[in-house]
Amino acid sequence: MPLRDTEASFGTMREAFGVDSDEPWVLPFHAYLVRGARLTAIVDTGVGPLPREFLPDAEGHLPGRLAAAGVRPEEVELVVLTHLHVDHVGWNTLFGRARIVANRVDLEYFREARGDREYFRREVAALELDLVEGEAEIAPGLRLVPAYGHTPGHMRVEVGGGAAHLLGDVAVHELQLADPGLAYSAEVDASRAAALRAELLPRLADAGVPVALGHLSPDGLGRIRRAGDGFAWEPLR
Ligand SMILES: [Zn+2]
Repeated sequence: MPLRDTEASFGTMREAFGVDSDEPWVLPFHAYLVRGARLTAIVDTGVGPLPREFLPDAEGHLPGRLAAAGVRPEEVELVVLTHLHVDHVGWNTLFGRARIVANRVDLEYFREARGDREYFRREVAALELDLVEGEAEIAPGLRLVPAYGHTPGHMRVEVGGGAAHLLGDVAVHELQLADPGLAYSAEVDASRAAALRAELLPRLADAGVPVALGHLSPDGLGRIRRAGDGFAWEPLR
């Protein structure tokens, strides 16, 4: 279930994707609630509470979304961080009882690159993280798979043996589905991110399974469909 933390813009389409448009790129920031018979988990935790440096005018709504879904923060046993960008870790400290799983390589990279940032100190460095490397089954039916490129330790999540895929920021805009080779300026390794899309998107399209992409509209849940030389986004609702 998607939990929209906020919607905002931090740059133009030209700045983000190098396309010929100075329109602002307005995007949603979703976290996902995964509930099984024996597990309540959250994948990514949004931009977080105010005040903050990133998107200082955009209020984060994740606690309200969670309440509307009938879940108290202390009921969340597991938090999975696909990567450690500012917009994916913001509400980490809300889940004081949860095991928080992150990737070791990502932590090392962000410690170097963002170690002095307030968000990183409060929502990442101050917490006890359960670090994984490579592929890992972290709970029954919840498998983390390396999806490096967007960040050096970015991971995707396979739910229920591949019945659904939470892809994090494998693609952040429909343009990156239409052209899997299109770089996004915040990708740490753009060619690796592009190669991953080229390999992964055909498989997901052929499988026809539901996927989550945290910055796509309306709520980042949909299917990948083949369209021309590339792929298209088919929202679930
Ligand atoms: Zn993101």
